[in-house]
Amino acid sequence: MKILVIGLPLTILYFIGLGTLHLLKKFYHKYNKLYKFASNVHRDGLSLAMRSCKSRAPASTIADMVVITLKPKEDIRIRQGHPWIYDNEIAVVEGLPAPGEEVEVHDARGLPIGYALFNPHSKIRARVYSKTVKHADEAYFIQAFETAKQWRDFNFGTQRMSLRLVYGEADSVPGLIVDGFIGIPIDDDNPEKQIQRQDVQPGLWLVVQFLSLGVDVRKSMILNALHTVFKPDGIIERSDAPVRRLEGLEESTGVLAGSVPNLVCIEENGALFEIDLAGGQKTGWFLDQRANRRDAARYAAGQRVLDMFCNQGGFSVLAAKAGAASVLAVDSSADALELLRRNALRNGVADRITTIEANAFDYLRDLEKMGRRFGLIILDPPAFAKNRASLEGARRGYKELNLRAMHLLERGGVLVTCSCSHWVSPQLFDAVLADAAFDSNRRLRLLEERTQDLDHPIVVGYDESRYLKCRIVQVL
Ligand code: SAH
Repeated sequence: MKILVIGLPLTILYFIGLGTLHLLKKFYHKYNKLYKFASNVHRDGLSLAMRSCKSRAPASTIADMVVITLKPKEDIRIRQGHPWIYDNEIAVVEGLPAPGEEVEVHDARGLPIGYALFNPHSKIRARVYSKTVKHADEAYFIQAFETAKQWRDFNFGTQRMSLRLVYGEADSVPGLIVDGFIGIPIDDDNPEKQIQRQDVQPGLWLVVQFLSLGVDVRKSMILNALHTVFKPDGIIERSDAPVRRLEGLEESTGVLAGSVPNLVCIEENGALFEIDLAGGQKTGWFLDQRANRRDAARYAAGQRVLDMFCNQGGFSVLAAKAGAASVLAVDSSADALELLRRNALRNGVADRITTIEANAFDYLRDLEKMGRRFGLIILDPPAFAKNRASLEGARRGYKELNLRAMHLLERGGVLVTCSCSHWVSPQLFDAVLADAAFDSNRRLRLLEERTQDLDHPIVVGYDESRYLKCRIVQVL
């Protein structure tokens, strides 16, 4: 009896609860559909409005931020550390965000998960800059640059060294690259003479790339923040990268502040290198390979070295300085080779370095025909895979290069092989090497598994930030 008196009302209450929940759910779905419909109508109107929008300054004049709500589960990747939100991952854009404007990102349940910069022109519709800080204003950039600087100071000491000072998303400033070159301007035609110039104070020049709309519209506040934190002598823009087009931006280059010499002589790993800030490839110098260049040189003493894709001689000069018997440096760029020859002179190793202007694939075949052999080969090609579609072609390219290099190596010789395309995963790259070992009938002993230097930090969950693979293998 007692059980009946207590149990019956409880059961009734339970079923009433279930019914209410069901009704609430129905109401939510209906409301959600209406909401999406309204927002689509609104979005079509919005894109028209944006096309006619002349001003590119963010229009954050309203008190509250525009909210973008993600589709269910699309928050997981973002919460794991990936900063990009694609157009097809967004359920609702509430309000009218201007190109580049800050937006608040919500998950499908309406919980805020971060703040992002909006770009209506790009497939990457929003780039998250912070999980907690609301406004990407000058104070934000100063804080981000200070944090980035502390990480570099910690890793590289406070000694003045040329470094990547800001590495985009990985330093919480999506799309902004800042390379800082510390050196002496070159105003002399004789590279050998310059070695003596200890009396000149080195300067600091920043080479910047604005690779997203969000940072492009904030150029002036970013320049102010760079001045506050890094105090450079000059800033030059090298936003001549094709990815700008995906953001709806034209390429843009030129001096933005102070004065910037064309050629600067920097010191890296105890060697001197001339860098062409205005005309060199990318930002003028591949800082990411700094530690790999240093450690590759450990295998060079007494060896015949082949440096394929040598650019301005980062690997070649260090290998020669480490006692290589000879270095054959190959690149398809005449300008890069001209600088390489100056760098060889500057470091007193020109007598052991020969430069060849050629296509690497053809020249590797020629070397094989000539019966040449090397004790150390470096392969540092440009990114073969620029997107998913070109991945198969890239795989074949890497395979061919590595296979030919294995044919050219003496037994026990060392191969330093790299891939800087983030589309090629470390697993895929290792599989390519195994394939090449199979075809060349050689055994590979993995000596070192490496990546980019620490001024290009890697964010877990954001694989694009972990792009450089460098393997040092002994070919038996
Ligand atoms: N190893 C260099 C960086 C290499 S960057 C360093 O440590 O600084 C890639 C280089 O490959 C560029 O210099 C580019 O001019 C060159 N390159 C691109 N395609 C090439 C090809 N098919 N054959 C030879 N060189 C090529």
